[in-house]
Amino acid sequence: MIRNAVRKLKGYTPGEQSQKKVIKLNTNENPYPLPDAFYKNLKDEVSEVLRLYPDPLFRSLRKKLGTFWKVDPETIVCGNGSDEILRLIIDLTIEPGDKIGTLDPTYSLYDVLAEIREAEVQKYPVDAQGNPDSAPFDFDGKLFIIANPNAPYGNLICREWIEQFLENYKGLVLIDEAYGDFSGQSWIPEVEKYDNLVVCRTYSKSFSLAGIRFGYCMCSPFIAESLYKIKDSYNLNMFTQWAAEKALDYWPEIEKTTAHIVQNRGKLTEAFEKMGWQVLPSAANFIFARHPRAKEVFSKLKEQDIFVRYFDIPVLADGIRVSIGTDEECEILIQKVQQILKAPGH
Ligand code: PMP
Repeated sequence: MIRNAVRKLKGYTPGEQSQKKVIKLNTNENPYPLPDAFYKNLKDEVSEVLRLYPDPLFRSLRKKLGTFWKVDPETIVCGNGSDEILRLIIDLTIEPGDKIGTLDPTYSLYDVLAEIREAEVQKYPVDAQGNPDSAPFDFDGKLFIIANPNAPYGNLICREWIEQFLENYKGLVLIDEAYGDFSGQSWIPEVEKYDNLVVCRTYSKSFSLAGIRFGYCMCSPFIAESLYKIKDSYNLNMFTQWAAEKALDYWPEIEKTTAHIVQNRGKLTEAFEKMGWQVLPSAANFIFARHPRAKEVFSKLKEQDIFVRYFDIPVLADGIRVSIGTDEECEILIQKVQQILKAPGH
């Protein structure tokens, strides 16, 4: 009954969402909520119209996003988180047996989505600092996905590397900018120049709205038109459409919390380095830090209700990924890690 590819599939393992209150630094959410005013209007504005279907084309939201980014709203496609955008792009381009190119390591969902579609993933390793080798000019598959900043290392992929590749590659390039606001850079302005470039973004990180599930991409009108053909008609519920549009009014506040998180990223990096960790230069809202006792630190933090992320695969097994929390959360984390490392390891 069930397809072979699905039977063999291990599936994606998201970071744990705890049922109890913990210091949660494992899924790169934003520790700072939006201002109160944002939440106050939510119920009144949306409740009455819930008996109707939501706008399948999210026109009002796209118009506002278009103004925000100074792009034509026709080039914007919205999804139930950027995870849905990733799935749609793969559904759009990939037939069984086709190749998808990615860096390695990167966001592990790409592998899962490829496997569902029975695609082969051609991986281009990055070095210990997160930098890829020369541009993948040998890649002849249909789709190349680049998380930028990359996950879980957090570094930005060199602009020239991406540019050289875009200039030479005929397939689709998807740049996943989930953490783009923390890097201060974007490829969105280049979408007009390269009609094979798609850039996707999410509200789950800088916008503090992981719970509403909202992501979107910018692409050529031709690609957008095709994406609209394959998406679910009502993939974005009314609450999400309303909240995503409204949140743009709070951009100045979002910029402030983003800057604060970036500042804390610097402080946390320094503190970890002082404790003997090797920290990669991050342009995201998390750091990846290596230490011979990383796995033990992860487990002992968890015992004390502090969640960070540990990936038990060879290339990542010597590190932990830590989301940047509030000032207080960062301080507690540093203290606890210090205590753990003071005790003899096992
Ligand atoms: N891309 C990357 C690189 C991510 O790390 C994540 C978060 N897990 C996503 C996309 C998914 O974001 P969303 O919540 O918008 O589905």
